[in-house]
Amino acid sequence: MFGIKMIQIRTIQEIEEIKKSALLVGETLAEVGRNIKPGISTAMLDKIAEEFILDNNATPIFKGYNGFPSSLCISVNEVVVHGIPSQREIKEGDIVSVDCGTLLKGWVGDSAYTFALSGVKEEAVNLLKVTKESLLLGIEECKIGKRIGDLSYTIQSYCELNGYGVVRELCGHGVGRKLHEEPEVPNFGKQGSGLKFKEGMVIAIEPMITMGNRAVVFERDGWTCRTKDFSISAHFEHDIAITQQGPLVLSSFDSIERAIENNTNLVKI
Ligand code: MG
Ligand code: MG
Repeated sequence: MFGIKMIQIRTIQEIEEIKKSALLVGETLAEVGRNIKPGISTAMLDKIAEEFILDNNATPIFKGYNGFPSSLCISVNEVVVHGIPSQREIKEGDIVSVDCGTLLKGWVGDSAYTFALSGVKEEAVNLLKVTKESLLLGIEECKIGKRIGDLSYTIQSYCELNGYGVVRELCGHGVGRKLHEEPEVPNFGKQGSGLKFKEGMVIAIEPMITMGNRAVVFERDGWTCRTKDFSISAHFEHDIAITQQGPLVLSSFDSIERAIENNTNLVKI
């Protein structure tokens, strides 16, 4: 089988199990959304999320993944992804990307949302809006017979049309039994290129979009990925199953967005 991409095809029942895990990720991110405020440390948010996941009989799958030390990736402002929770305190006007993964009954859910603290600049809110919209447009491409390049192109062209940078170094992925499975799901590419979508494939789509130049650097901790020019960056992620009926979004932002509406420290995007 060497050289052949091992794309997993899931049954309807298996997709239901992945959905349960993905929905738990959304509930965990909502718990973060209820607690986020100026002055709270990213380590405290990580602790809250970890306890929430364990209370729901699941495991935080990021913790220990290739040695990652925490349950959440929390990436503030110029940090694109993989920020390690620390004593850094959230401030008014920050944007805070929170990425979470759970393992529930052997199935992985993986989703991310970028929160905007009150006092945030209007231009930052627009970056978040466009990044989230690009994810939703990409999801519409997840139809049997279309190709990954169609989805990649859609995300890239929409974000670039809006004047933003599309990070190339990291991408989406298959998701299921493991956090990262085949295939890779880039946020840039050509229409009509790449693997054809088949019924039963489950992928995580996760645009990482920058206000300035798309170049990134990795900090010496081996994880933290930030923009080279220190411009701010947004990240949204959903898990999607390819079905006969079209794309089925397994994760959900509904609870997160309810939490945002009820938290006066946050701005709705
Ligand atoms: Mg993720
Ligand atoms: Mg992911």
